[in-house]
Amino acid sequence: MTTYKEGKDYALEMDRQDPLSRFRSQFYIPKMETGEDVVYLCGNSLGLQPKSTSESIQQELLDWKNYGVEGHFHAKNPWMPYHEFLTDAMARVVGGKPSEVVVMNTLTVNLHLMMVSFYRPKGKRVKVIIESDAFPSDKYAVQSQMEMHEIDPKKALIELTPRKGERCLRAEDIEEVIRKEGEEVALIMIGNTNYYTGQYFDMQRITSVGHEYGCIVGFDCAHGAGNVDLQLHDCGVDFAVWCNYKYLNSGPGSLGGCFVHERHAKKNGLIRFKGWWGHNKETRFGMRDDFDAIPGAEGWQLSNPPILSMAAIKASLEIYDDAKISNLRKKAVSLTGYMEYLLNSLDNRNIEIITPSDPDQRGSQLSIFVKNADKKLFQQITSKGVMADWREPGVIRVSAVPLYNSYEDVYRFVEILKGELTSRGIVK
Ligand SMILES: *Cc1c(COP(=O)(O)O)cnc(C)c1O
Repeated sequence: MTTYKEGKDYALEMDRQDPLSRFRSQFYIPKMETGEDVVYLCGNSLGLQPKSTSESIQQELLDWKNYGVEGHFHAKNPWMPYHEFLTDAMARVVGGKPSEVVVMNTLTVNLHLMMVSFYRPKGKRVKVIIESDAFPSDKYAVQSQMEMHEIDPKKALIELTPRKGERCLRAEDIEEVIRKEGEEVALIMIGNTNYYTGQYFDMQRITSVGHEYGCIVGFDCAHGAGNVDLQLHDCGVDFAVWCNYKYLNSGPGSLGGCFVHERHAKKNGLIRFKGWWGHNKETRFGMRDDFDAIPGAEGWQLSNPPILSMAAIKASLEIYDDAKISNLRKKAVSLTGYMEYLLNSLDNRNIEIITPSDPDQRGSQLSIFVKNADKKLFQQITSKGVMADWREPGVIRVSAVPLYNSYEDVYRFVEILKGELTSRGIVK
């Protein structure tokens, strides 16, 4: 147990002792009009730009300029196999084997592709389990897949709902739903970590209970990848999808990632949407053969990918490889714990952290519910230099990410919030 202390000196001392503090200077931190760094706590929404990104993209622009189509083979980083340059590092971030991981498409697209293969309702096994406060896009994707199979989501979509008066789901309740419904469940698809509450679910436990009942288990790791130490392979999940523009700092709308467990790699008869980029690389340009899937996650690729987006991902993953997800996670536990400590030391009857207090059940994000608050409160703290995220009703989501946020950032955020809450009489 760390013992935190109040006061700015403590924050500055923690920053001095932080072995990862050197990474902050590898990112562009947005500035206020005064020239001071913004307190950027939005890495869960859009990660900041690494200073190395521009050079990485410039390289590909240069090679395109100089080589034209020959860049596919003669670029410094040949475009033909470009996605392969990302695979090992990405696999380390999410805890998969390289053959299980591919960078392609965007999250919702990948979720659809995975459900085409892994949501195969049959007989009485047609249901899907999802969280009630799942990210809207995930819910739309799941509902539309059900509709495609002429299954009524109103009847067959099971939503995991917190107990009355609670905001997060209990592991035992999730398990009970699986045990009760399992025989009729085709797919369990859960957002891990939850985008709203910040709750991180025990993937291993959910997966093993799901498998006990014969369900396929997939996760949306939009808020997990680069944030928590995912161990997708060891947890045995069937598939996972994520985006790379949140914790993984690869730029707005950048390509996403996809994991398919190796147990599915060579399954014959697996239905999938096919495209030429998923075809055996040796014969891909034969252009005449029947589809011959690359074994593993690469077999789900459709198109030749956007190199400029991949160049940004490459730059970001180099930083992750240097920092290492296990070190980042260690700092995240401390940094988030520090924020929680400072928030709890306010007179806090009117503010409630809805994210679980157990570090094993959360990543870097804290979701703070402020009673009787309106968006003006949020706009006030924004004008004082905090970039965070507001969700109705009354929830401020903040994420102190260990790559570039400092203890001082956390200190400044709580001071600014405290100032606003005090002037509104919300805290004493
Ligand atoms: C950010 C996020 C998305 C976004 O999906 P895109 O396809 O990348 O636009 C989807 N689901 C969750 C849970 C997210 O957090």
